Amino acid sequence: MNLSHYWMPFTDNRRFKAKPRLVASAKDMYYVTPEGRQVLDGLATLWCVNAGHCRPRIIEAIRAQAGELDFASSFSLGHPLPFRLAERIAALAPEGMGQVFFTNSGSEAVDTALKMAVAYHRLRGEGTRTRFIGRERSYHGVNIGGMSVGGVPSNRKAYAGTLLTNVDHLRHTQSPDNAFSKGQPARGADLADELEHRVIPLHDASNIAALIVDPVQASGGVLIPPQGYLQRLREICTRHGILLIFDEVITGWGRLGAPFAAQHFGIRPDLMTFAKGITSGAVPLGGVIAAEAVHRAFMDAKGGGIEFFHGYTYSGHPLACAAGLATLETYEEERLFEKSKDQSGYFEQGVHSLKGLPNVIDCRNLGLIGAVELAPRPGAPGERGYEAFEKCWDKGVYVRPIGDALAFCPPLIAERKHLDQIFGTVAEVLKSLT
Ligand code: PLP
Repeated sequence: MNLSHYWMPFTDNRRFKAKPRLVASAKDMYYVTPEGRQVLDGLATLWCVNAGHCRPRIIEAIRAQAGELDFASSFSLGHPLPFRLAERIAALAPEGMGQVFFTNSGSEAVDTALKMAVAYHRLRGEGTRTRFIGRERSYHGVNIGGMSVGGVPSNRKAYAGTLLTNVDHLRHTQSPDNAFSKGQPARGADLADELEHRVIPLHDASNIAALIVDPVQASGGVLIPPQGYLQRLREICTRHGILLIFDEVITGWGRLGAPFAAQHFGIRPDLMTFAKGITSGAVPLGGVIAAEAVHRAFMDAKGGGIEFFHGYTYSGHPLACAAGLATLETYEEERLFEKSKDQSGYFEQGVHSLKGLPNVIDCRNLGLIGAVELAPRPGAPGERGYEAFEKCWDKGVYVRPIGDALAFCPPLIAERKHLDQIFGTVAEVLKSLT
């Protein structure tokens, strides 16, 4: 096969093409390579295949929908599926968050939420609120808005002059003092105070539209929020009229045992983004869930006409919505959110069983998200992590390197035997790694 024409995203193309890793098919917890080798998916592929691969209800729904209505626009035209899916999503969302806007991806969801926040303030006569606050090491996708509020240096570096200038960042919460914490670290809630003590006095609350937070910073290296930290951010935002956006692209759909991280932490944000697990990865779909008060500002606006000048050709695409409905049915039928919660204790044991192995400097976890952090090789950051990833793949387990951390995020259908295989394989690899 000619590999030269496909410019692969977020990939070291030259390294990959020199030693490709290809998959041919997938079922439940496993990929199958073209040579017929099974590889356990320890990362729900990209934190998205929450129901497992090629689940019958989901693929049947996509097949049937493709034959019935391939596409219909949602611009001043309707078809039943996005309405039905929005109703199902609203039923799973936190109380008072019932309005769903569809996009095709998490990146689009983030930029949509940022635009909604600014438009909301303007409609309420607070048009000076145009500034966004993000956090170091957060990942909010790759569009200009999401990249600007994001805090992953390598994603920002080449575009420094293109990033939005109306953005400030809070410090990230990772600290060596919290190494090997099980679940949420005990120390660090006071890092939230930076919002009230530095950022708000600097910019003035009357200029700030929204704070965006990924409740668990997954792609930024699996950073678990300290106990009480997110609650404190919520309180500060409320006090100053700043909208709180939870970017739930990874934490949504049962990853922490509840439908969304918002419910896990007992926090009601003003806007929530989602993507990935809504279709278990089978068809691209994302969206924003808005609190009713935010939505009302648009619907109560004086004069008629379009309330929100925003949307994508494929917002509410029939195939994506059919996949979404079938995925939510699968979650419910198989009680996968409860299963995720039940399995999180065993998963935690697995993550922390890696403590004490060569080069391990931290193990951390929450729900079914976890990571082991390795000490970087002198002068070659990321190399040890990458080599560990490659060796795990060769031994039949797919996990993801993020710098020198290895991230774990199995589908919610994972049984103990699968978790044993993931952590057993990683342990074997770490023992052999220099
Ligand atoms: N937001 C978060 C928290 C994410 O983790 C991701 C992707 O990993 C995104 C946004 C971007 O989603 P997508 O890759 O679907 O654009």
